[in-house]
Amino acid sequence: MQTLKRQIASFTMQAVDAVLPPRCAVSGEIVERQGAISPKAWLELDFIAEPFCVCCGFPFEYEVDKGAQCTSCLAHTPPFKQARSALKYNEASRNLILGFKHADKTHIVAAFMPWLKRCGADMLEAADYVVPVPLHRWRLLSRRYNQSALIAQMLGRECKVPVLIDALVRTRATPSQGHLTAKERVRNVKRAFGVNPQTSACLKGKTVVLVDDVYTTGATVKECSKALLKAGAAEVSVLSLVRVVRDGEFS
Ligand SMILES: [Zn+2]
Repeated sequence: MQTLKRQIASFTMQAVDAVLPPRCAVSGEIVERQGAISPKAWLELDFIAEPFCVCCGFPFEYEVDKGAQCTSCLAHTPPFKQARSALKYNEASRNLILGFKHADKTHIVAAFMPWLKRCGADMLEAADYVVPVPLHRWRLLSRRYNQSALIAQMLGRECKVPVLIDALVRTRATPSQGHLTAKERVRNVKRAFGVNPQTSACLKGKTVVLVDDVYTTGATVKECSKALLKAGAAEVSVLSLVRVVRDGEFS
């Protein structure tokens, strides 16, 4: 309920923003309407397209056989069925995410919708529920809202899939993942998530789309997927706005 109130407050902020000229969330240039991306910034956004790992969505730089998986997924099958992201992490998508997180640019969520609906079409079609990755309440206070929840809410509304906004809860506070290595991230989020007892009955046998803003190493969404499956969900897929792709990394 608190989460919802804060999100309503964020949407109210948009009304305040409306009196200021709308600016591109990537470049800061003035654009014709709220949530629009300037033509220059548009060219800088790097959309993920095939070929990519059929499981985790890691983009390959070369053609692969249909159904190919990356080395990481082959070595350790992820708990989720599949993961897809709209954009590769670069300076432009970084600006999009940072602006979104820290500057109350909640109106730009609308711009993300067609991108997410395109790359997540199959999983959204099959979904019973959309569930966001939760933010710990301490961070929720400092940031004022959970951006993953905001994306999940709008996506659920547009795709007519019910959103279980607080199905997942953090069972303990975890330090920010910003400067951690892949291995440290795995340790940091180990068993850090659980399913809200009030919503666990809804999940039994259901297909869930888990929503996050950034997929970095996948450590967080893998832990969240495990928690949802443990609670009885039949299948979990992951949809994120931005995917960090480092040279030579498969994760
Ligand atoms: Zn993979």
